[in-house]
Amino acid sequence: MTFPNANKPEPGAAVAKVVVNLSLDREFDYRIPERLRGRVRIGSRVFVPFGHGERIGYVVNVVATSTVPLLKDVIRIENEGEQIPENLVALARWIADYYCCAREVAVRALIPAVVRKGTLLRKVRRTAVLKPDLNLGEILPALEKKAKKRAAIVRELVRLGGRCEVQKLLHLVKAGAATLEGLAEKGLVTLEQENVDRDPFANDTVLPTVPLTLTADQARALEQVMTSMTAPKAQTILLHGVTGSGKTEVYLQAMAHCLEQGRDAIVLVPEIALTPQTMERFRGRFGETVSVLHSGLSDGERYDEWRRIRDGRARIVVGARSALFAPVGRLGLIVVDEEHETTYKQDEAPRYNARDVAVVRGSFENATVVLGSATPSLESAWNCRAGKYVMSVLPSRVDNQVMPVMEVIDMRSEAMQRGGPQIFSRRLETEIKETLERGEQVILFLNRRGYASQMLCTKCGYVAECPDCSTTYTYHKHRAELICHLCGRVLPAPKKCPGCGDEKIRFSGLGTEKIEAICGRLFPHASLGRMDSDTMTTKDAYRRTLNSFRAGRIQILIGTQMIAKGLHFPNVTLVGIIFADMGLHMPDFRAGERTFQLLVQVAGRAGRGEATGRVVVQTYTPFHMVLQHALRHDWPGFLEDELATRQALLLPPVTHMAVLHFRGENETKVADTALAFLEALRPVLPAGTDAIGPTPCTIAKVRGRFRYQISLRNVNMLRLGPILRPLLARQDRNEVEAYVDADPYSLM
Ligand code: ADP
Ligand code: ZN
Repeated sequence: MTFPNANKPEPGAAVAKVVVNLSLDREFDYRIPERLRGRVRIGSRVFVPFGHGERIGYVVNVVATSTVPLLKDVIRIENEGEQIPENLVALARWIADYYCCAREVAVRALIPAVVRKGTLLRKVRRTAVLKPDLNLGEILPALEKKAKKRAAIVRELVRLGGRCEVQKLLHLVKAGAATLEGLAEKGLVTLEQENVDRDPFANDTVLPTVPLTLTADQARALEQVMTSMTAPKAQTILLHGVTGSGKTEVYLQAMAHCLEQGRDAIVLVPEIALTPQTMERFRGRFGETVSVLHSGLSDGERYDEWRRIRDGRARIVVGARSALFAPVGRLGLIVVDEEHETTYKQDEAPRYNARDVAVVRGSFENATVVLGSATPSLESAWNCRAGKYVMSVLPSRVDNQVMPVMEVIDMRSEAMQRGGPQIFSRRLETEIKETLERGEQVILFLNRRGYASQMLCTKCGYVAECPDCSTTYTYHKHRAELICHLCGRVLPAPKKCPGCGDEKIRFSGLGTEKIEAICGRLFPHASLGRMDSDTMTTKDAYRRTLNSFRAGRIQILIGTQMIAKGLHFPNVTLVGIIFADMGLHMPDFRAGERTFQLLVQVAGRAGRGEATGRVVVQTYTPFHMVLQHALRHDWPGFLEDELATRQALLLPPVTHMAVLHFRGENETKVADTALAFLEALRPVLPAGTDAIGPTPCTIAKVRGRFRYQISLRNVNMLRLGPILRPLLARQDRNEVEAYVDADPYSLM
């Protein structure tokens, strides 16, 4: 990556370059009329004439002159308090260039929709205030005679010391707004208005916490971060700390130093980790100055939080991916927790990776970036080797708690001994029983929801497949439904085979729902909880399930990757991984890396209290390199092996990769378009870059649209972007959609 400098406006600037809220990948020049000079800045939201009407746009640059002969004037500035800070406009430009998307798409990503639309007003609190020095001895009796309600209001205000919030007042005396307004007209009462923030935590109390005394390792890591924060040039630090090593405490103390220096901090966490538990840790330490941006906020709350940050009233921002664009004033620190998480990559335009863009924003604003993980991505590890990032290590758990004991169960021999494949090994069953008897808790992990992954007729071979997607339906027993996990299509589950009418329909494969059902039979006295995207559908479900688990009302918690990270439950002493190979043999070069990360993260949930944790790993490929390293919590060993493979094959992170996607309803057209694209591209490809394809994607069809791809190896996006851009612009989007995914995560 290279980091171009932000475009500084030139002196005497009179021309605004504007991206309009339309799908046009262009900047338009407008003259800034005298009256607006100096006020129209990079990031301003302006009204401009466009075609026969007016449009809202964002100023992405301000320059002295234009090559366009006749310029139209900017009409006006819209909501001056809501412009995008200049440094973010520079970041949007970088995103558009690197991820090869339209400028306005990148600019749009920076501002929450509710702020962008500008239709929401601030919440107003109205207070009724009694005029001071009134001669109440005269006024009240007069009022009592002709206007009882008015008199009641005045008396209530006297009782309350002269002022009261309007709604409350009207409620107390059971009067209408008109009565109060009457009093205001008479000059007896004044009505004051003030803007107030909606408080997403209004009904929450968080206990304040104080900084802990750091371990020697934590102190060393913090020292590294602080050195960077005071150095002339800030660094990116990869903090590799095993699960439970106290990374969060290092973040918290680094953030405290950042605030002391008068600078602001952003903390990114995967959406999945935005649990009440996480929020409490930040709010407990920093209180009101923390703004937590999560998907559960209402529009109004989101709007107010944005304003709070923009106005400098909130100086620490915690949130998922898009919190990276929080309009903080003087950025000093960005923390990206669980930096290896794939959810940092957005799967729609702009297809940015928040972790990588965090590094870019850090370099634009000279802020220190801390990337934390127990299982860092190969990308970040590689950047350390290349000298771009600095590595910092927390090698052991706080208080030298031991890492959980991992035990592998070879499910092949289990199947051999018990005459067929099993879901629970005898060992896991025994371990669960004993754990429950000791009054301790169990987590069971399987990364697939639903009951069965296939519905198969054993007589005619009929398999229920989604007509719109190239995948089979997943059977959800409780709801008696078949659900396509790609497009969400739902069917009632048939009782007979739709193919031959036979009643012997079999459901094969595994899902969390089935694990729950089996557990119910094996451990009838245990209380069970399940956490996956089927059960966590309401805003509150997550919190409730976790609270029950924490309080011990749930003894066995079953879940998908939702339960893999961030949870800290001291009484969990056993983690069972039902099928460790799931996901390992996918046609994706990152399958091994992902499985390693998931296994280590899940294992890290065990033994976070006094007692040592145990992890039972069931697998059909116990010899696999990934499993072997995961069993020993050996990230460096895994890194060596995996990097060797990537180097041999010149795969990321050794080189950068990009994938061109083509999608449409007519398969021939999709294939032809991809082929024609490749023919146009080949002659202009930079030397050293390879194009492979076009081929149908592994998941060849989703929602009735066929998918083809061309993969580009060994790319430099800032060089390739200008080559791809005109070719992409030539596509007729109605027929076949074409786009590029730079540094892709999903190759399916
Ligand atoms: P990680 O994020 O690395 O998995 P956490 O930050 O969650 O680890 O820390 C694990 C536990 O250790 C938490 O309960 C935390 O409060 C505690 N902890 C962290 N640092 C210290 C310390 N220096 N002294 C005592 N307890 C600590
Ligand atoms: Zn489907």
